[in-house]
Amino acid sequence: MSNAQPVERTLVLLKPDAVARGLTGQILARYEAKGLVIVALKRLLTSRETAAAHYAEHEGRDYYPALIDFITSAPLVALVLESERAIEIVRLLNGSTDSAKAAPGTIRGDLSVFHNRNLVHASDSAENAAREIGIWFPEEA
Ligand code: ADP
Ligand code: MG
Repeated sequence: MSNAQPVERTLVLLKPDAVARGLTGQILARYEAKGLVIVALKRLLTSRETAAAHYAEHEGRDYYPALIDFITSAPLVALVLESERAIEIVRLLNGSTDSAKAAPGTIRGDLSVFHNRNLVHASDSAENAAREIGIWFPEEA
């Protein structure tokens, strides 16, 4: 048996491109097959206020206006995943931000070619996971 690692929660978005392309089931299946537990999940049309809070650290970047427009353009699926080392593991499963450069075997590497339509979001640190879960699932925070 391996030594126990801290159990973590991470915030994941299946972005509007994933929902529109009908990929939510197969993306969720990848997380579940890895052993992550879905502890909360909902489908919603995101408000600009929620989008701005979620992507606050990107404000001012050239891609920011298009990012906010896109994330609010159509329904997405938000969820919280839990496991030991969940934050690191989900980032690895998702792959690099630019899908064209994401490794085969990752969600982005297998299912997208785009930088700005890269299907998924996942928290990048414990601090951001707590912040993002508070935005999308205040009842879980
Ligand atoms: P990640 O989603 O892998 O954590 P970032 O936090 O760097 O990536 O960026 C947030 C999101 O902003 C990305 O997932 C992508 O949708 C968009 N984005 C980031 N950089 C670019 C870029 N150079 N061109 C277009 N979209 C971008
Ligand atoms: Mg990020």
